[in-house]
Amino acid sequence: MRIERLALIGIGLIIGSLALALRKAGAVGEIVACARGDATRARALERGLCDRAVADPAEAVDGAELVVLGVPPGACGDVARAMRRRLSAEAIVSDVGSVKAQIVRDVAPHLPDRRRFVPGHPVAGTEHSGPDAAFDSLFQNRRCILTPIEDTDAAAVVRVRAMWEAVGARVDTMTPEHHDRVLAITSHLPHLIAYTIVGTVADLEDEARTEVFKYAAGGFTDFTRIAASDPTMWRDVFLNNREAVLEMLGRFTEDLVALQRAIRWGEGEKLFELFTRTRAIRRGVIEAGQAYQRQPAPPASNARP
Ligand code: NAP
Repeated sequence: MRIERLALIGIGLIIGSLALALRKAGAVGEIVACARGDATRARALERGLCDRAVADPAEAVDGAELVVLGVPPGACGDVARAMRRRLSAEAIVSDVGSVKAQIVRDVAPHLPDRRRFVPGHPVAGTEHSGPDAAFDSLFQNRRCILTPIEDTDAAAVVRVRAMWEAVGARVDTMTPEHHDRVLAITSHLPHLIAYTIVGTVADLEDEARTEVFKYAAGGFTDFTRIAASDPTMWRDVFLNNREAVLEMLGRFTEDLVALQRAIRWGEGEKLFELFTRTRAIRRGVIEAGQAYQRQPAPPASNARP
């Protein structure tokens, strides 16, 4: 597996980590990255995430064999439109967005050949963003979901699968809609709950808030980590996976009200029975190899010279 010319649109945590991991695996030739900010491009070059960094998506994809979009979900359509003029019909286009059906709707109309479109989502990340947050082991033993569309040709899927396997990911395929329903419950709803709890604390009066910080226990501390995730990306996730998130939120709200009742009426057995069932879920997650320690961003001294 080797990609001679790779174009990366956006060069932050996910795409920067992909670049580092592909380099480490010896699976890539030239990497051209695109970002809007001068500082982003300079830092990506300093850290060795790319060989060239440009501001224009069309310039980045010129001559690329494989293009991967790594911008926030809501920006994918715009960058696809912007790169169209110099995108080869032969080039495979993929992405790493956390929602899939909306990105397919936004991106596919701008591609010269939809058969070369292989949407994807590595289920790996941290709460850090930008080129400094990238590290080469992010995808080791983590899942990556590919969501080919009806038109996607099998050879393009094989190529993108090989790229993710080269960086240590375990690859699954499913439809974009199925992906969005699964991720609504496994990722999007938990983030929404974390944002809500931490938001509730943020709204407490000063004295109460200070106490919360002082006596923050494991549970709240974990929520603050999740709620520190990138606001732009998560705004886009909720707006672009609205239906699935609202459906899961409806179920969650009903369950929460049932728990509220159980506490009010002293129904200890109900609480005990639920907390016993949820322990079994934790065991299932561990057995599926998905209970991992999130790794913080490496210090900048890890940068390639
Ligand atoms: P990030 O670290 O913030 O990087 C985003 C990159 O995109 C930056 O290089 C940024 O640079 C560029 N960018 C932002 N807005 C842009 C726009 N409107 N047009 C062009 N470039 C833009 O983000 P990330 O966490 O890597 O997330 C990138 C993608 O991966 C998202 O689609 C997200 O859903 C997905 N994802 C994230 C995680 C996670 O845990 N973070 C996990 C899986 C998948 P400039 O601002 O300088 O342009």
